[in-house]
Amino acid sequence: MNKETKRVLDFFFPRRCPVCDDIVPALEFKDGKIRAGGYIHRRCHRQIEYIRGNTCARCGKPLSGDIYREYCDDCSRVRHSFDLGMSVFRYRTVAGSIYKFKYMGRREYADFYASATRRLLGEKISRLGIEALIPVPMYEEKERLRGYNQAAVYARALSKELNIPVREDVIRRVRNTAPMKELDAAGRRNNLKKAFNIAGNDVKFKCILIIDDIYTTGSTIDEIAHEFRVAGVERVYFLTLAIGQTT
Ligand SMILES: [Zn+2]
Ligand SMILES: [Zn+2]
Repeated sequence: MNKETKRVLDFFFPRRCPVCDDIVPALEFKDGKIRAGGYIHRRCHRQIEYIRGNTCARCGKPLSGDIYREYCDDCSRVRHSFDLGMSVFRYRTVAGSIYKFKYMGRREYADFYASATRRLLGEKISRLGIEALIPVPMYEEKERLRGYNQAAVYARALSKELNIPVREDVIRRVRNTAPMKELDAAGRRNNLKKAFNIAGNDVKFKCILIIDDIYTTGSTIDEIAHEFRVAGVERVYFLTLAIGQTT
């Protein structure tokens, strides 16, 4: 579907704002002209904080404090399997939005997320030479119950913005895992052992970008990055919509 067709559809099925969830008008008046409305109310956009400034050189988490540090506490201690991570929003400013995106069927938010990602990180991502976007897979049964995998929905919208293909067929989640919220870091790593499987032995990529919604301890991304390294991928980056701040 091209952008114009999409806008016509927006007129009949208005899209909802990823912050307040009210309708965003398909048309808006600006400087005496009618033009296509955005993905988000302008006043709502102001409430969202982007990840800028001093960030961890490994996971991309914003660093607090005035003293210059290269890595966050976590990355100084743990050896991660990925090379570098990037995120778009500060988690606390988009927590409600991501919740609705994940659990309440608001897949349309992905268009805003993807366009915001391109504006913030498009240039940086294009310099990395990424060959494929790989959304973190969901266990098949779980995806069937929920109706969609939010990481894949975000990755597909992003693919259109960045012109990088999405590959959902190269890694599978072969085990259902316990909800991570209830586990500590060690428990999370154990929980994920052998949870993912590279599908087929024809992974020809040298450089990939793993896509997920939220970065917490990075254990899921580490596990996937590890599998891809074993399969011969040389550079593994990740991109998440949201990340918290170190203390
Ligand atoms: Zn709004
Ligand atoms: Zn870090």
